Amino acid sequence: MFVDQAVITVHAGKGGNGCVSFRREKFESKGGPNGGNGGDGGNVVLVADEGMSTLYDFRHQRHWEAENGEDGGRKQCSGKAGEDLIIRLPPGTLAYDATSGALIHDLKAGDRVVVARGGRGGWGNEHFKRSDNQAPKNADPGEPGEEFSLRLELKLIAEVGIVGKPNAGKSTLLAALTKATPRIANYPFTTLSPQLGVAEVDSSRRIILADIPGLIEGASEGAGLGHEFLRHIERTRVIVHLVDLRPEDESDPAENYEVVRGELRGYSEELADKPELIVVNKADLFEDEKSLKDAINAFCRRLDLRRKDVHVVSGAARQGLPALLEVLWGVLHPQGKAVEGWKA
Ligand code: GDP
Ligand code: MG
Repeated sequence: MFVDQAVITVHAGKGGNGCVSFRREKFESKGGPNGGNGGDGGNVVLVADEGMSTLYDFRHQRHWEAENGEDGGRKQCSGKAGEDLIIRLPPGTLAYDATSGALIHDLKAGDRVVVARGGRGGWGNEHFKRSDNQAPKNADPGEPGEEFSLRLELKLIAEVGIVGKPNAGKSTLLAALTKATPRIANYPFTTLSPQLGVAEVDSSRRIILADIPGLIEGASEGAGLGHEFLRHIERTRVIVHLVDLRPEDESDPAENYEVVRGELRGYSEELADKPELIVVNKADLFEDEKSLKDAINAFCRRLDLRRKDVHVVSGAARQGLPALLEVLWGVLHPQGKAVEGWKA
């Protein structure tokens, strides 16, 4: 399994201090106590956000702090309560207490959980007035907010699986898509697992892709893939079927396409039934526009496809990649372009 992890500290707001003050009015030398209460500190709240798919942002921001409550004031003024701090996480995130290792929460879609409570505001001196103590000079300090170190863990599910014949350029394409932006280049699980990568459409839209290498190669060699990997790729939502438009062995791209379709179906009906995006690769190998166009047209004709159903890229020369990501995003998120509620 591919696991994304981050350790963060969450600090709820401190409660505001109670105030010590006395009424000062004309002709009243000893006014009563009127110190107000401190406001409560803000909570830290975890919220599941379906627009998020990784813990990427938590590598950059590790410390999360809610607002403190304000101190109480004179004239019975209560301090303002601190605002809650909302932390948006992908559904499926497990939050552990990093110190004890205990699981605090398994975040499901729609969840909203307070993980660190804000401190209560302190009473002002007015609160302590008694018949035998008309002029209390004490007030309570605000309580501290809770503070924890959390370990966040998310099992990543690839949204897009890339299939194709050996040498179609799957590994190259995955590397090009997921390393296209410098910010992603350091994302550790591209090295942790060469078959999985995160592509950035832009800074707020990310797509997790998996190279499904052994699928065809392994099947033909009788090696097969681990059950876990198969389960994983069966949860992808879209297949990118990558076709080498000019194979070195001079085989027919359309025929290669059909061979892979057949093997895919033989391997897993469920996988074969997913929406498929046909992407022809190695466009850079053509000497001019015309020969490329001819090859695409021939491919389309053979498979009875419309030209607009076929996406043209070169993984190695990095051509057509932003457009491909946009199309993929559109297929994965038919409702709209950016996901509402997503926050950088
Ligand atoms: P995979 O077996 O599908 O993972 O294919 P690879 O990514 O390993 O690529 C197979 C070969 O094709 C390698 O020699 C790559 O350098 C080459 N290749 C991959 N993509 C392109 C491309 O867009 N253009 C060209 N000219 N060669 C490519
Ligand atoms: Mg490969």
